Amino acid sequence: MDTSDGNVTPMMAQYLEIKGRYSDALLFYRMGDFYEMFFDDAEAAAAALDIALTKRGKHLGEDIAMCGVPVHAAEGYLLTLIRKGFRVAIAEQMEDPAEAKKRGSKSVVARDVVRLVTPGTLTEDTLLEARRHNFLAAWAEVRDEASLAWADISTGELRVMTCPLARLGPELARLAPSEILVAETRFSEVEPVADDQRVALTPLARSSFDSTGAEKRLLAQFGVATVEAFGAFDRADVSAVGAILDYLDLTQRGRLPLLRPPAKEVAGGALTMDAATRRNLEITRALSGGREGSLIAAVDRTVTAGGARLLDRRLSAPSRDLAEIRARLAAVRAFAGDTALTETLRADLRKVPDIDRALSRLSLDRGGPRDLVAIRAGLEQAGTLAARLSSGQPEKTTRAARAMTGFDDLVGLLTRALVAEPPLLIRDGGFIAPGHDADLDEARQLRDEGRGVIARMQADYIERTGIQSLKIKHNNVLGYFIETTATHAEKMLSAPLSEAFIHRQTTANQVRFTTVDLSEMETRILNAGNRALEIEKRLYDGLKATILDAAALISDAARALAEIDLFAAFADLARTDDWVEPKVDDSRAFMIEGGRHPVVERALKRSGESFVENDCALTDGDTPAIWLLTGPNMAGKSTFLRQNALIALLAQAGSFVPARAAHIGIVGQLFSRVGAADDLARGRSTFMVEMVETAAILNQADDRALVILDEIGRGTATYDGLSIAWATLEHLHDVNRCRALFATHYHEMTALSAKLPGVENATVTVKEWEGEVIFLHEVRKGAADRSYGVQVARLAGLPPAVVERAKVVLEALEKGEREGGTRKHTLIDDLPLFNAAPVAAPKAASRQSDLEEALNAIHPDEMTPIEALNALYDLKTRL
Ligand code: ADP
Repeated sequence: MDTSDGNVTPMMAQYLEIKGRYSDALLFYRMGDFYEMFFDDAEAAAAALDIALTKRGKHLGEDIAMCGVPVHAAEGYLLTLIRKGFRVAIAEQMEDPAEAKKRGSKSVVARDVVRLVTPGTLTEDTLLEARRHNFLAAWAEVRDEASLAWADISTGELRVMTCPLARLGPELARLAPSEILVAETRFSEVEPVADDQRVALTPLARSSFDSTGAEKRLLAQFGVATVEAFGAFDRADVSAVGAILDYLDLTQRGRLPLLRPPAKEVAGGALTMDAATRRNLEITRALSGGREGSLIAAVDRTVTAGGARLLDRRLSAPSRDLAEIRARLAAVRAFAGDTALTETLRADLRKVPDIDRALSRLSLDRGGPRDLVAIRAGLEQAGTLAARLSSGQPEKTTRAARAMTGFDDLVGLLTRALVAEPPLLIRDGGFIAPGHDADLDEARQLRDEGRGVIARMQADYIERTGIQSLKIKHNNVLGYFIETTATHAEKMLSAPLSEAFIHRQTTANQVRFTTVDLSEMETRILNAGNRALEIEKRLYDGLKATILDAAALISDAARALAEIDLFAAFADLARTDDWVEPKVDDSRAFMIEGGRHPVVERALKRSGESFVENDCALTDGDTPAIWLLTGPNMAGKSTFLRQNALIALLAQAGSFVPARAAHIGIVGQLFSRVGAADDLARGRSTFMVEMVETAAILNQADDRALVILDEIGRGTATYDGLSIAWATLEHLHDVNRCRALFATHYHEMTALSAKLPGVENATVTVKEWEGEVIFLHEVRKGAADRSYGVQVARLAGLPPAVVERAKVVLEALEKGEREGGTRKHTLIDDLPLFNAAPVAAPKAASRQSDLEEALNAIHPDEMTPIEALNALYDLKTRL
């Protein structure tokens, strides 16, 4: 960029023109080996990437801010920028700089954007997590129909479903897309939902969603005459899918990835769960945000990336179709019963590369020789696996095995054509195997022979000059040259050799020459090398085209491999962790014997402790469908509640379950809620959130639902909370008539079981020993006798003085209760000792005396229960 004040240089004009078209993205402007950023882009990127911000020339009299990243390291920087919420437009040089020079000295190299990189459109292996999908979603509304479409361009998955705005949150929670597209006119409606689910929201012009244009794009992309070819698509479906295609066209600059024809997902096929339920149950993500500590991390035994992604999909959307669930379980059962076969299959599967992603890169022209080899290796293994599954397997397995066969010709071709370990880039050459193409072999031979000739020339020159240390070398600047030490240079230039050796260069100790023969030889070698490379490129394109012709079949095979991987993984899990096959049917039973929580059990095992298994028996008919669970904090109520929800979820995903026996009548909806006190991190009016979420259950749950409520009503004042919990339980019992586990610390509620025939009391037992509580973690029928709040508070690190004092207060209160009414009783149970008790921090001496002073000032004999409670609160604030 020239420093011509006031004048816009041709390069700057070009930059500004391109930037004008991509104003909402950072522009990576290719200059030689760097991507450069200018102006505001440079400042934003330098801050985000923590790289140096410099200046380059002036524009309209002002310094131009600039920063740059080397092209070879660009992927890492891209990832950082995308993670930080930027979109990046990549402008490449579209011609050789030499071409531009030919047009005149002022001419600028032609540049254009080849790709817009956004969170939902990544394809690079380095930018993606292998074991997770990377979905791009689009939400469309056409008159009173609304749909959500989603695609993973790295695997070709493309789906759509009917989705009114109210369902958008739960569906985004299920799919966890990286980016969602929405018409700009709908931006404000969708923004809160997208923010809530932490999905990047991209507004598009309304035209991208226009259903007529969308239909045309669909028909063209998939080469069909009518959208009916995909099933019953309404206008909103077409609009949502069309918006995805339009956006891919924009971001990939016309190079559309390989996508499967869109499939409509029908609501009712999958177990319904809302966003709060998914969060609470920590299915694919723990509350901390990561995968560690989630259900999926505890149960994932898959050995291929495709298998891991399938597991993610299955756990995110377990089935509610009895036949489907039974078919999945049958496949797992067969593998679980044949350990030797399963082990062999898993060993084969470990050699299966990520076929989906290799295929997608090839279709986007971002692939390389290693993708061809990946496809070959994957299909070869598919054949081997299919042969092992040829007989005696359940239907699901047999069908998968069939999809994995029929690639012998393609595998044969690729095996003959490719070397075993090719280089990364096409331009490096050397990936086509010798013997595959006669022309290539010939060109390579010429090139290699040339090298042999050079070796002979060197011997010849040594003989002729008598300089033993003479060498023929090669570098990129001089090409081939003859090199001797400076001391021998005279000899080289003396007659009769002087004519032959042409001086090229003198360095500190060396002198370099060439000869006519040597330059001729060099040209021949170079030509042969270039020709070999050209042939390899042509062959690569041919092989790629052959693969892409079979893309649909290859992609089916990849899906089948993922399925086999998942069945084998579930079988392995069942065997090593002692899980059983659940009996799943159409009843409303929920009978679990010896159930365990897979995540808690794993954590305990690591620290050498064992998990206490527990039964759960909810049925319709004579036995109650609702358990009301009481017991002190830390006893294991939440664990018990969640383990039962997870067992239902795992069974319907097609897995065995962590129990000694399980009988589950299909669950249609799964709800899980935690009282607001556990949910402070979300920083909204937590009680409001809790009530909104509870309302959602009471309004939606039907008699096929399984509802888990943990300490509902805790987020408000005692009597409010108790009343809400009470009424909620009655509603679940009388109106929703669902199966439910309801944990509460309101002991008053245990009286309800006498009134409501469908409610049974259960409690998690503790033992008191020498004034300490010991948690037995055993769930048994009946009600807890007391809450042990004070003991638990001590375990949590409340200062001993406070605990001692609390005991006194408690005794006083209990004495009052024996002598007085029930009001005091409720107060006792609700002493919120545990709610805010932090682990004790070391206290300063002065603070301690402050506390002591306050304690001394308390005279319990003269206090009313309310005063005692307030005194306790006061004490806590002094901590
Ligand atoms: P609550 O909901 O009653 O406060 P939690 O379910 O959070 O209690 O359990 C507290 C801790 O007790 C858990 O983190 C776990 O380590 C342990 N625990 C819970 N259930 C069991 C069990 N069945 N066997 C062994 N340990 C358990």
